[in-house]
Amino acid sequence: MDSDVLVIGAGLSGLVAAFRARKAGLSVTVLEARARPGGVIGSERRGGVLLERGPNSGLDTTPLINALLTDLGIADQRVDGSRESSRRYVVRGGRLVALPTSPGAFLGTPLFSTRAKLRLFAEPFIRKSPADAEESIAQFVRRRLGSEFLDYAIEPFVAGIYAGDPEQLSVPAAFPRLHALEQRYGSLIKGAIMGARERKKSADKAKNTAASFSFREGMQTLTDALGRAVGGIECDVRVGTIQPGADGMFTVTGERAGTSLVRRARAVIVATPAYAAADLVRAVAPEAAAALAAIPYPPVTVVGSAYRRTDIAHPLDGFGFLAPAKERPAVLGSLFSSTMFEGRAPADTVVLTTFVGGRRNPELATAGDENLASAVHGELVRLVGARAQPLWREITRWARAIPQYTMGHLGRIAAVEQAERVVPGLYFCANYRGGVSIGDCVKAGHAIAERVATRLAGA
Ligand SMILES: Cc1cc2nc3c(=O)[nH]c(=O)nc-3n(C[C@H](O)[C@H](O)[C@H](O)COP(=O)(O)OP(=O)(O)OC[C@H]3O[C@@H](n4cnc5c(N)ncnc54)[C@H](O)[C@@H]3O)c2cc1C
Repeated sequence: MDSDVLVIGAGLSGLVAAFRARKAGLSVTVLEARARPGGVIGSERRGGVLLERGPNSGLDTTPLINALLTDLGIADQRVDGSRESSRRYVVRGGRLVALPTSPGAFLGTPLFSTRAKLRLFAEPFIRKSPADAEESIAQFVRRRLGSEFLDYAIEPFVAGIYAGDPEQLSVPAAFPRLHALEQRYGSLIKGAIMGARERKKSADKAKNTAASFSFREGMQTLTDALGRAVGGIECDVRVGTIQPGADGMFTVTGERAGTSLVRRARAVIVATPAYAAADLVRAVAPEAAAALAAIPYPPVTVVGSAYRRTDIAHPLDGFGFLAPAKERPAVLGSLFSSTMFEGRAPADTVVLTTFVGGRRNPELATAGDENLASAVHGELVRLVGARAQPLWREITRWARAIPQYTMGHLGRIAAVEQAERVVPGLYFCANYRGGVSIGDCVKAGHAIAERVATRLAGA
C-alpha cells in the first residue's frame, strides 16, 4: 500500500520522525534493516544487572524530550542521574581526579597546573577568529584556553562524546555553541556567563548543566515505546534503492530474507547512517552521496563488566572517568553504570561500562575478545583498583559507531541540503546532521517531520 511518508532506518532519529509524522496525521511506513527498531540503542537485563550496549543516558537539553515521553506514556519510567553522578573523573598521572564544578574547586584542583589556570585569565582578551574561518577543536582550544586545557578537559570530553580526535573535528560543525559563543561575545568565559542568562529565558539547556536521564529498564524503553506508537515497522528489510517517479511518488525497493519488496510513498526520510544513505541516493543525488560517503565512522567497542562490589577499591562515586590520550590509556573511559542510576545492579555488584577504540585506538576496538577483555581489565585494575576478574563481561562491537564532524563537515551537509532541494520530497535525518546526542536526534526527528508535513499539506 502507498503511504504519505516512508522512513528508512528505525534508529532514534527515524523513529521520532515517524512518530511525529504520524501525529501530524500522515500515513507512515518504516523499513529497518535489523531485527528490531532502536538502532544503536539496546538495553538488556542479565540477572539483576541492566546492561546498555549503546547509549547509557541522555541529557535533558530540550523540552521536546519530556513532551515526547508524556506523549508516549513513559514519563513515569524515566529515572534521573543519581546525585553522585554529577561528579566526573578525568585521569591524570595514572589516577582519577574529579573535574572541578565551581570556581573555588577549579583553583584548587590538581587536574590543571597553576600555569594552565593562570592562562585562562587571558581568554577574554584573545581576539576571535574570522567568522568564516574553520578551525579544528584542537586549534580553537589551544588558541583560546591553552594546550593543557585541551589535553585534560577537551580532548577526553571529545573522546567521550564522539570517540573522536579534536585535531580532526571542526568547531563550527561539532561544537556550534562554542563557535557561536566566540563569535557573539568574543570570549568563551564572557559568553558562558551571558549565554546562561539568555538561556534562562529560553527552555533549552546547555549540555554541561542539563540533567542526565534514562529509564528504569534502560534507554531501549524510549525506542521500544516509539516503535509501538509508530506501529507496523517492517524489520529485517534492507533498503537498496530510492527512485523518484514522474507522478510525484517515490518507489523504494528493499530485500527481506532474499525476497524483494517494493513500497511507494509521497516523501522519503532517509534515517540511516551516512555511509548507508550514500549508497541509497547515489543514483538520484550523486553529489550528496559523495559527501555522505566522506563522513567517517570509527569503530567503538563497549565492554560491560560486572564485579563484586568488594573487588573494586574505588568508591565509584561518580558518573565515570574519561582517559585523556596524553595518559596513553587503552580505553576511552568507563561509566560507573551502577552508580549513575538506581536499580542497575544488586547491592553486592557493580557494573562498569568501558568504551574502547574510536579515532584514537581503532585497532583495539577490533581486537579479539581475549585481548580486549584483558586490556579493559588491566585499565580497571590500574585506575579503579579492581582486585579480581569480573563476574562476567559482555562485549558489543560497533564497527562504524559515531559520525565524525571533521573539517569540511558543514560543506558536506550543504550538499545534503542541496539534494533535498533538487529532489523534492527526499529528506535526510540522522545523527551526522545537527548533533550526535539523544537530545539532538529528538530535535532533528521533530524538525524533519514538520518539514515533511508542511510540504505534503501544500502539495
Ligand atoms: C556506543 C555508543 C554510545 C553512545 N552513547 C550515547 C550516550 O550515552 N548519550 C547520547 O546522548 N548519545 C550517545 N550515543 C549517540 C546516540 O545515541 C546516537 O547518535 C543515536 O542513538 C543515533 O540514532 P540514529 O537514528 O541517528 O542512528 P542509528 O541508531 O544508527 O539508526 C540508523 C538505523 O538505520 C538502519 N539502516 C541502515 N541501513 C539501512 C538500510 N539500507 N535499510 C534499512 N535500514 C537501514 C540501521 O539498522 C539502524 O537501525 C552513542 C552512540 C554509540 C554508538
